Amino acid sequence: MAITLISLFFSLVNFKNILSSYSLLDKKILIGIGIVIFVFLMIGYLNGFYKSHDTPMTNVDKEQEKVVPPESFLPNEESYLYVPDENGNVQVIAKAGEDWDSFVEECVKKDLYGIENLSYIPGTVGAAPVQNIGAYGSEAKDTIDSVRAFDTKKGEFLNISNLDCHFSYRDSLFKRESGRFIIISITFILKKEGKVNVGYKDVRDHFSKKDIIAPTLSQVRNAVIDIRRNKLPDVKLVGTAGSFFKNPLISHAEAHELKATYPDMPLFPIDDKIVKVPLGWIIDQVCKYRGISKGDVGTYRNQALVLVNNGNATAREVKEFAQNITEIVKEKTGIEIETEVQYVG
Ligand SMILES: Cc1cc2nc3c(=O)[nH]c(=O)nc-3n(C[C@H](O)[C@H](O)[C@H](O)COP(=O)(O)OP(=O)(O)OC[C@H]3O[C@@H](n4cnc5c(N)ncnc54)[C@H](O)[C@@H]3O)c2cc1C
Repeated sequence: MAITLISLFFSLVNFKNILSSYSLLDKKILIGIGIVIFVFLMIGYLNGFYKSHDTPMTNVDKEQEKVVPPESFLPNEESYLYVPDENGNVQVIAKAGEDWDSFVEECVKKDLYGIENLSYIPGTVGAAPVQNIGAYGSEAKDTIDSVRAFDTKKGEFLNISNLDCHFSYRDSLFKRESGRFIIISITFILKKEGKVNVGYKDVRDHFSKKDIIAPTLSQVRNAVIDIRRNKLPDVKLVGTAGSFFKNPLISHAEAHELKATYPDMPLFPIDDKIVKVPLGWIIDQVCKYRGISKGDVGTYRNQALVLVNNGNATAREVKEFAQNITEIVKEKTGIEIETEVQYVG
């Protein structure tokens, strides 16, 4: 800016010297041209200035801007913002730093359907889309409309649509391009007149034991919390990252072969190409590794997919133990398993 003003000053001095050699009419024409050029330059400069200071709004989805005030994307008093839409659903915008389970609890209290099966998953709202958290037949991607994030590569704020998040089983754009996006808030679409999802075996069994045929939304949340408390260690007492590995996805032909060797193995067809294999069952029933420890690291007694630190296990010991399981699973089933957790360092 300073350089621009200095050069403008010298240009004006020069301009005055040049003008003295012209007639009055020529001078008027030259001054007129000068003013027009100056006005154009100022418009261009100011336009650039405001654009560069207004980046956060340049990518806001125009439709969303209509229903949600832009400032709601930024820190304010509210943790969540509820916006009913014309289809009888409710858009719920939640800030990334909020506790996930408190958010689920709030939505259930407000009779909003869609995330109740994801009750009691530890962590924040902002982490939910990163690995597309999932449990008991639901995944975060089923209710996420869009994610507002700062793209550190492009240096701008974006509203990323569900489709553009490239969600898949425990995976997303945010996990694949780790560190690139800082998630700020998430817009969920929840149903006012929804239906509970009790298709998952553990949830179904829970209600049939209690003779409940048509559970309510809050009964489903409480059921999920009960099931999780029985199956998973209490994070306040035991060091764990929850499920350490992903459930493998294999072809129908591979599933057919496995079933021939292990007839009791439960298999869950996802579509006509892919079958999901419950790895906890393999580690438990095939590898006989449930509740087994080496030093302070082991598999949890109630769920073999969960690794626990029973005291002072180091990261190296956890990694070696996990590697051991990976090799045994490969040897017994031919399946190459992947970790759900991300190693740091
Ligand atoms: C006992 C137990 C049970 C669990 N059960 C389940 C389960 O049933 N289903 C399931 O899917 N997961 C489960 N998990 C895993 C875990 O709860 C989730 O991955 C959760 O989303 C992590 O949240 P966090 O806030 O602790 O994120 P962190 O662990 O701190 O971060 C996870 C990743 O997300 C990134 N991240 C976090 N916040 C942001 C942000 N605002 N912007 C950009 N990136 C961000 C981090 O950089 C990191 O890569 C379980 C974990 C435990 C300990």
